[in-house]
Amino acid sequence: MVKLELREMDAGRVAVLRIENPPVNSVGSAVRVSLDEQLKAALSDASVKAVVLTGTARFFSGGADIREFNTPKAAVRPSLRELIAQIEAAEKPIVAAINGTALGGGLELTLGCHGRVADPTAKLGLPEVKLGVLPGAGGTQRLPRLIGLDAALEIIVGGEPVTAQQALEYGLVDDVDNDPVAKAIELALTIAQGVRAPRRVDHDPMDMPASAAAFDSARKNAERRYRGCIAPLEAIACVEKTLTTKLEEGLEFERDRFQYLVNGDQSKAQRHIFFAERKAAKLPSDEPADVKIRRVGVVGAGTMGGGIAMSLANAGLSVVLMEQSDAALERGWGTIVRNYETSQRRGRFTAEEVEERLARIQRSVDYADFADADLVIEAAFEDMAVKKEIFSRLDAVCRPDAILASNTSRLDIDEIAGVTSRPERVLGMHFFSPANVMRLLEVVKGAQTSNAVLAAVFGLATRIGKVPVLVGVCDGFVGNRMVSHYTREAYFLLEEGATPAQIDGALRRFGMAMGPLQMQDMAGLDISWAARKRQAPTRPAHLRYSKVADRICEMGRFGQKTGSGFYRYEPGSREPIPDPEVHALIEQCAAEAGIVRRDISDEEIVERTIFALVNEAAKIVQDGIAQRPSDIDVVYVAGYGFPMFRGGPMFYADTVGLEHVLNTIQRFHKEHGEFWTPAPLLEELVRSGRRFSDL
Ligand code: NAD
Repeated sequence: MVKLELREMDAGRVAVLRIENPPVNSVGSAVRVSLDEQLKAALSDASVKAVVLTGTARFFSGGADIREFNTPKAAVRPSLRELIAQIEAAEKPIVAAINGTALGGGLELTLGCHGRVADPTAKLGLPEVKLGVLPGAGGTQRLPRLIGLDAALEIIVGGEPVTAQQALEYGLVDDVDNDPVAKAIELALTIAQGVRAPRRVDHDPMDMPASAAAFDSARKNAERRYRGCIAPLEAIACVEKTLTTKLEEGLEFERDRFQYLVNGDQSKAQRHIFFAERKAAKLPSDEPADVKIRRVGVVGAGTMGGGIAMSLANAGLSVVLMEQSDAALERGWGTIVRNYETSQRRGRFTAEEVEERLARIQRSVDYADFADADLVIEAAFEDMAVKKEIFSRLDAVCRPDAILASNTSRLDIDEIAGVTSRPERVLGMHFFSPANVMRLLEVVKGAQTSNAVLAAVFGLATRIGKVPVLVGVCDGFVGNRMVSHYTREAYFLLEEGATPAQIDGALRRFGMAMGPLQMQDMAGLDISWAARKRQAPTRPAHLRYSKVADRICEMGRFGQKTGSGFYRYEPGSREPIPDPEVHALIEQCAAEAGIVRRDISDEEIVERTIFALVNEAAKIVQDGIAQRPSDIDVVYVAGYGFPMFRGGPMFYADTVGLEHVLNTIQRFHKEHGEFWTPAPLLEELVRSGRRFSDL
């Protein structure tokens, strides 16, 4: 757990305490107990002049053991707070040698030390707010005292780690060195000799002009970035305390807020999503990839192809972007260049970085340029005939071991694979718009897709910063298959009495990034119109069908791109404005369908739409289209703007209780008919008193 090693130096004996708790050196209860023992041994040994605290391999410490939260182990003494107080108060100098990543509680440990030296590769951060909690072992009180308010707010609220070099600039570490332990020993001994003063944080309130504006702007940023999450706001309140209270009182306040958060539903949901993402990355087979993906072809430079090419180029891959004509290619290229220019203006990339990225994308109108590609991703029109034509040409020009993928939103991957001579090397890679921003990647396994191909694509997904989720073939895979039910209920609710603004407002208040009708306006109403027309011949005639969306399209209103859809838009603005013309049309559709409009509550809007997602998701799990319920949560949080603080639709259903969900669905089934046939899996779970998280 924690090893003590004595080093004899000219200036005296130094105890090096090394945390050894693979894989990430988390400071769980056992490590705390061991560190306490070794620390006491080092401090009570009169021959030891100074102490150095370090970690092993790539980790100083990954922080508290999240799996121990809400368990008796979290209460095992000493607490991390008590350990840090002991370190801070020690008479002998204790210096942290940050040999690698120091996150959360790991970084907080170093903040109690009297000096800090980091390896050049070290990363230092306080990611707690991303898990719905806050740095609860003094981070919000000591970090601002050490590096000032602005930098501390950035690290605590942003949740992103900083590099060793940035940490040096902030004054978070005293030195950066290739041998941090040797340097820390040197620093500790100079402190012991009185040559240098220890860097203990001042316990008084911070002597800083109270900058209300800095806190206001931190709160505004947090509200925008973490929609509906309370942890970042609580963390800001803790930081604000440093201005008015002494350290001890601030620590008490922080402890209280941490306890409040760690016991709340939000942090449980956020921790669920954290683990769910890691689980989603696990494939059923551990067969390794059989091709290393370095060069990727992209067919189509439209909305998706352009974004996919950018994602790949950003991660250092070489890209061939192919279009059907020079004019289409130039149009797509122009959009990519403009997107990069915007990123550069916003300070995300430097001019050189933009240039490097653009240089990685080769433009082409010739299939022959795919001859040396390891993978080709097709992002052309959503039309089976077009896709089949493209895949047979790809099959002819690409290397036999090249992987061929389609970005189709709904079409049958097996039918596409069927036109090639290599169905085992064909799959779906369903990116989300904008593809260079959205993290989700649905990886669609066809009937014959090989495990080695899946492994190669999962590896690539991680390299380009995506969250891959394995899904099976069906209309719409996981995300879009569910969303059809969600939007269907939104359309029905319009006819029954709600307005677009009421539906979108209720779901935004629930925490969705945007409401379903706003989302439709953004994506373009013509796209789902085309899908509905395609499905029309096979739609059972006895089922209720809302004509609202079709009628809006018939008026030439395709959403934001035409300046009107479910809402109207002022030129150049994305702000949806309610439109009486649409309200009149909805009333007319309702009258034609013989529906008497009524008042609809926010609660009904949320239950009708969100439980429609849950019911379909349960069928998807049962059909084996998703590997596990938590994968569905990842799809919805990473790809569909579902609130992270509710943990995804399945976790949310578990939280409100599956019995309540099923009872409500049964009531809807009686009132609204067979769309609401309860999923057998949901019934089975309720019968056996289990939850989705038990599967
Ligand atoms: P888009 O119309 O913006 O772009 C398609 C591009 O493909 C056009 O530039 C077109 O010229 C080009 N193209 C068509 N046939 C071609 C061919 N034979 N060879 C080379 N280029 C060809 O469409 P999009 O929105 O980028 O969608 C592309 C695919 O991605 C579709 O299958 C769509 O269902 C899917 N998709 C779209 C979204 C979205 O939100 N737009 C999200 C996920 C998946």
